[in-house]
This record gives sequence, structure tokens and C-alpha cells, in this order.
Amino acid sequence: MMKFENTREFAQKLDKNDPLKSFRDKFYFPNFTKDEVVYFTGNSLGLQPKSTSDYIKEELDAWAKYGVEGHFLAEKPWFSYHEFLTEKAAKIVGAIPEEVVITHSLTTNLHLLMVSFYRPEGKRTKIICEAKAFPSDQYALESQVKFHGLDLSENLVEIAPREGEHLIREEDVLNKIAEVGDELAMVMIGGVNYYTGQLFDMKSITEAGHAVGATVGFDLAHAAGNINLKLHDWGVDFAAWCGYKYLNSSPGGVSGMFVHERHAYNPELPRFAGWWGYDKETRSQMEPGFNPMRGAEGWQLSNAPILGMAAHLASLDIFEEAGMDRIGEKRDQITAFLEAVIEDVSKKNSDRCTFEIITPKDKTKRGAQLSILAHGQGKALFDALTEQGVIADWREPNVIRIAPAPLYNSYEDCYRFGVCLEKAIQ
Ligand SMILES: *Cc1c(COP(=O)(O)O)cnc(C)c1O
Repeated sequence: MMKFENTREFAQKLDKNDPLKSFRDKFYFPNFTKDEVVYFTGNSLGLQPKSTSDYIKEELDAWAKYGVEGHFLAEKPWFSYHEFLTEKAAKIVGAIPEEVVITHSLTTNLHLLMVSFYRPEGKRTKIICEAKAFPSDQYALESQVKFHGLDLSENLVEIAPREGEHLIREEDVLNKIAEVGDELAMVMIGGVNYYTGQLFDMKSITEAGHAVGATVGFDLAHAAGNINLKLHDWGVDFAAWCGYKYLNSSPGGVSGMFVHERHAYNPELPRFAGWWGYDKETRSQMEPGFNPMRGAEGWQLSNAPILGMAAHLASLDIFEEAGMDRIGEKRDQITAFLEAVIEDVSKKNSDRCTFEIITPKDKTKRGAQLSILAHGQGKALFDALTEQGVIADWREPNVIRIAPAPLYNSYEDCYRFGVCLEKAIQ
């Protein structure tokens, strides 16, 4: 591994050699702070590509010009607009196009997928999930269990870090899956834990779930556009993610879902249906009886919100140009550099510094996020960072989350973060 130096010159040298350096200029950086911003919250809301407004404007113009006929006459006809996004999104999550559709919002998609893939029956009724999952996921899981008239405490099996530890041990997940065995209906966890930044081995979890006859799905909110995913090869049954974190596709923007090819056309799978999931060729005949599209498209309910889809397309085109391979390489290096900067600051201020990074050190166990656990003085430290133009994310009770997004963050951002951190400590 490269030996890092916590100096501006060294950071600038890394920037100069960064194959993705030109991408920074494709984004707007917030300019409301007193000092120049350090934007490390791409894991919460990605920055706006400068091209987004053109993509949206194109559809506003088509709407003005064609009215309803834009469904067919617009340059990118709205009737099938989602198809412009499918292949690009599929590449990002490692899927074949038929397995992916861009539609709805994340929590909506999780519910729609669980309606199909959480099918408690007989003694096979349990769900394995992570303890302290993202709140929306917790509520979604709880309400799914209750929806089937089942008891929560018996059927929601949460896996937590061991006493005194911050991360979930993968062996604990695998052992729990084996232990619950033929009572396990579904495994559903975050591919990257939103709080600690821990990346799970989705392949082995999927294999373990399948070995006991359960379905396996992942919430990829913090993984899509961040991790090099191979959902198809890993055999994952279903997954959902949002478009607005690493994928930079506007606040609350459209989201994605994945359904493995092996379920592409399984009329036995129950689902909540809507007209946009109906077979495209015969949809306009409006016949009674639901005849779904093959693949993930069959889970669409409604016609697509074109303006949000346009914002997503703008970003997907940037990802296409950068490529997930290069993004992944920079992710590992910039995250390691940021980590080294923080460790250096921490070492130099060891007398008054009271924080530690709880995200795994191993680059195969994390993405672009580092979670700093600040014992005691957390909020004061966070506020002192904010004061200096650092946009980070505070999570009660004591964690500061920062994420250098490989597409637009620079190594110099990391260096500047270190300078701000040192001042904040003092
Ligand atoms: C961001 C995030 C969500 C947000 O859900 P929405 O439906 O988009 O509001 C849900 N789950 C996880 C794990 C997240 O990180």
C-alpha cells in the first residue's frame, strides 16, 4: 500500500495523478459556507451534476411542446423513459438489464419486494436483519411481519455487534442463518451499514440463506454507486437502493430495484400490481387480470415521474463515463488517505483527542464512508467542523459520518478536513 503523507503537497500530487480528477468540475459544490466547503455527505445527498438542469429542461420543453403526446413524440418518449436508465443502472449494481428497473422510492420498493419475497408459511416465518437498521428499514420489516399477522418478537431476529464491539461479525450472521434454519423465511440487511460503514459479504450471506431455503435481499442505499456490486453473480434474490445518495440524482429522487433473473417470470410470486408492471405489448387494451412484464419491470406500479427520471439519467451518464472500476479504485485510495489524515491528526493531538474510527480498516469490508466515534465531546467536535465549512453528518448519540465521494471529492478535500479537525480539537 502507498505510504501517505498528511501534507497539502502530497494531497495535490494525488489529485494530479487522479484519473477521475476532471469529474469534480461536473458538479456544483455548495457555496453558502463562510469558508470553502468540504462536502463529505455524498452518502446522504449526492451533489448536483451541472448537467442535470439540461436533462430536466429537455423534458419540460417536451411537455410544453407536445402535452400528452410527449409519451410518444418526445425525443426520449415518456412511455418507455425508464428503459433509458435500465442498462446504465444495471451496470452499477452488477445485474443483467432484465433484473433492474428504476421506479418509485426506496422504502416503497422494499415493501413491494418483500410482498413477493417474504412469504411466511408453516414454521418458516422468521426474518434475519441487522440490529439498529436504518429506521425506515426497521419500520418496513416490522410492518411486514405484522401484515402477516405474526408476532414481532418471535419473528424478527436481529443480529447485533457483540458486547463491547461496534461491528457485526460476519460469522455471527452466517451462524444465525444456519441456526434459524428451516424457520428462516428471509434475510434482509443493508449491504453497507449506514451507521458504521461496514460492508457485508453479500455473496456468502446469500449462499447461507439459500442453503437453508430462505430468500435473501439487500438494502443498497449506501452501496449503490459506492461498492462494486455483482448482484446477478452473487445470486441475490432482490435488492433496492435510492438514487440520491452516491448516485447524485436529486433529493428524494427515483430509486432502483433488482429482482434476480430466476424470478423474472414466475407467475407464482404474489405481488402488489399496477398498470405499469403490465405486459407492455397489451397494456393499452386494459384487459382485466394482471399479466406482468418479464423481470423487474413487472414490479412497477405507476407511470414514471419523468423529471426525477431525467435527473437520474444525468447522473447515470456520468457514472457510465467514469465506470465503476475506476470509481472503486479511487474510492479505496481516497478513503485510505482520509483515514491516514485522521489518524495523523489524532496521533499529533493524542493528549486531548478522544475519538476513533469504527469503520473496518480492511478495504474489502467498507466503501467510501468513515464513521468517527467521538467519546463524550462528539457534538462539540462536529459543530466546530461545521463552523469551518465541513459538511458532515451527525448521528446520535456520538458518531460523525464522513464520505469522500470518488466522483467529485479531491485528496485536497481530505487534507483540508484534517486541518479543520485539528482546529476543532483545539
Ligand atoms: C437513505 C436510506 C433510506 C431512505 O429511504 P427512502 O424511502 O428513500 O426515504 C432507507 N434505508 C436505508 C438503509 C437508507 O440508507
